[in-house]
Amino acid sequence: LFAGPVDFVKGVVAMSGLPPADRLEVCFAGRSNVGKSSLINALTGRKNLARASNTPGRTQEINYFALGDSRYLVDLPGYGYAEAPVAIVAKWQALLKQYLQGRQTLRRAFVLIDTRHGVKEVDEEILSMLDRAAVTFQVVMTKADKVNRATREANIAQVMQALQKHPAAYPEIVVTSSEKGEGIETLRALVATLQ
Ligand code: GDP
Repeated sequence: LFAGPVDFVKGVVAMSGLPPADRLEVCFAGRSNVGKSSLINALTGRKNLARASNTPGRTQEINYFALGDSRYLVDLPGYGYAEAPVAIVAKWQALLKQYLQGRQTLRRAFVLIDTRHGVKEVDEEILSMLDRAAVTFQVVMTKADKVNRATREANIAQVMQALQKHPAAYPEIVVTSSEKGEGIETLRALVATLQ
């Protein structure tokens, strides 16, 4: 679905470091440990592509991957680290805000939500930031294989309810399991065909 190879382009720590805005891009955001690296790896069919971005020191960077030469996949830093120093959090929040508000070629944000937990307080901050930046976001539920049917349905309902107060929310969500492959093809098609 992606024409050409998927390659790591660069890690960005300031707006001045962004690659030229010469193609459409989508970004992925989520609480640390939500399964973002696993999802990006499953999506791109590349093992450990996003692993490098999880190594200490890289976590505050906005990581750019090229999907062929037609679009960028942007891996945003995971949020909600209990141990993160206040000054570091403030710095990346500022960068995130600048990025979301200033990146003309950003088409959609995919916000990852753990199917076991639904939308938490810690997620609300980025959802509101996306509202303010008027960046359409779509929720991707992760680790769906970890819950039973009843929990899955209940937490999907909780997410749909939480989205009602977010004007930038896309009305459909994607339920995935990187482990089992559920939803990966659907998500890949979305990323590949967004115009
Ligand atoms: P990140 O911090 O958001 O990048 O999260 P990771 O991708 O590193 O995943 C965090 C943990 O959840 C790891 O132990 C993964 O193996 C596990 N994990 C990620 N996705 C899935 C999934 O779809 N199913 C299951 N069962 N475990 C997953």
